[in-house]
Amino acid sequence: MAVRPAYFRDVSDSQWNDWKWQQANRIRHLDVLERVLVLTEDERQAVVQASAKFAMAITPYYASLMDAEDPTCPVRRQAVPVMAELEVAASELEDPLAEDSHMPVPNLTHRYPDRALLYATHNCPVYCRHCNRKRKVGDPTSAPKRDELTEAIDYVRRTPAIRDVLVSGGDPLTMADQRLVAVLSDLRSIPHLEIIRIATRNPVTLPMRITPELTAQLQKFHPLFVNTHFNHEKECTEEAGRALTTLADAGCVVGNQMVLLKGVNDDPHMVRRMNQWLLKHRCRPYYIFQCDSVEGASHFRTPVESGVNIIKALRGWTSGLAVPHYVVDLPNGGGKVPVQPMYLTSHDGTQMKFVNYAGEAYTYEEGAASPAES
Ligand SMILES: *Cc1c(COP(=O)(O)O)cnc(C)c1O
Ligand code: SF4
Repeated sequence: MAVRPAYFRDVSDSQWNDWKWQQANRIRHLDVLERVLVLTEDERQAVVQASAKFAMAITPYYASLMDAEDPTCPVRRQAVPVMAELEVAASELEDPLAEDSHMPVPNLTHRYPDRALLYATHNCPVYCRHCNRKRKVGDPTSAPKRDELTEAIDYVRRTPAIRDVLVSGGDPLTMADQRLVAVLSDLRSIPHLEIIRIATRNPVTLPMRITPELTAQLQKFHPLFVNTHFNHEKECTEEAGRALTTLADAGCVVGNQMVLLKGVNDDPHMVRRMNQWLLKHRCRPYYIFQCDSVEGASHFRTPVESGVNIIKALRGWTSGLAVPHYVVDLPNGGGKVPVQPMYLTSHDGTQMKFVNYAGEAYTYEEGAASPAES
């Protein structure tokens, strides 16, 4: 159980465990943040200046995971602005994945042949400082209007190639149950749509949102996949674990998409422990994303080699189920490409030379395994 900061000492347990209370009492301004954390001068300035560009919001629960004294705390770094956010490197873009230019209709990106991404809302319980959609997330004026969502869903209806829709945002679980159910029902009425995915960080930032009432609704829309976004083992609390198993009990297939962040999770041993914890709670590590070329995230970006080193430290050393795909989502809409450690060291005729996870050399003869063909 996370230790509640002194500022929230008088909050009753039933309030603390009520997602609506958490949502209503999000920390949005300097005066409250300052009473919860000992801020550096840089953070204090950034809460005013940087959050004018990209809003700050932190649930009391997520704040309770932070080290009040240590500005390098991995949870704090994900949610408390710093002045480095205002620095824009030459290679950085406002819309790094060109999502807005691959929109056949508002609020839907159709990039890959058989699946599409729907932006259902622009709100989130916590605004992650590394968010690659900060151009619109947290800005209520850019939020999709109801008829625009209908238009996006109609596009799916008249595009039979789409068999998989990702409901994203923002965080779709910031919508009221009723509204979310309306969106899911509309999607489910499309005969050619095989699977629906929900992308949500609520299990991490607001785990009390995963109520029995919600999951009772969700199980009407199977096959339903839920992808969440754990980045650090400090986020792996009892409450978060319960949120994951509640979703799994309701029949959702739960996965995790970690964003690789310098000084937060560029640590292979920590990632291994976190992924093992996720598996124990029936959540399968799916992706590790290289931090996108979004404006103001240079302080988070690692070399690609850091991601490869994480995979190297996982593959073979722990359950294959704990090994996600490390991907770079290419700027300008190239899509996701996996980057792997080099296990194949040479390929000469039928002879393939490999190094295994432990660095030992092996040879594989192509064709040798299929004598029946000769
Ligand atoms: C990531 C993404 C998807 C889903 O990709 P998968 O590899 O199938 O998980 C779909 N559309 C867009 C635009 C995406 O960025
Ligand atoms: S929850 Fe997702 S969409 Fe929302 S701020 Fe974080 S990364 Fe961005």
